[in-house]
Amino acid sequence: MGLPSKRRTKQSKKERASHFALKAIALTACPDCKKKILPHKVCPYCGKYNGRQVIKVESLTERKKRRETRYEQKKNI
Ligand SMILES: [Zn+2]
Repeated sequence: MGLPSKRRTKQSKKERASHFALKAIALTACPDCKKKILPHKVCPYCGKYNGRQVIKVESLTERKKRRETRYEQKKNI
């Protein structure tokens, strides 16, 4: 393993670290439900894109119900 031949100064370390900061994600508001979403992506809350219903979004209770029925079916086999 190679070792650094010279010690890095405080300033050179700081200069390198000046690019480490993370940028905040640019979010846009969904035109239908007004929630913050990623631009150019289907809204994960209402499933719409460009005013069209693209994916079916089920509520938490619906999801729970579906999972429970599937679990029951597996148990019976
Ligand atoms: Zn939406």
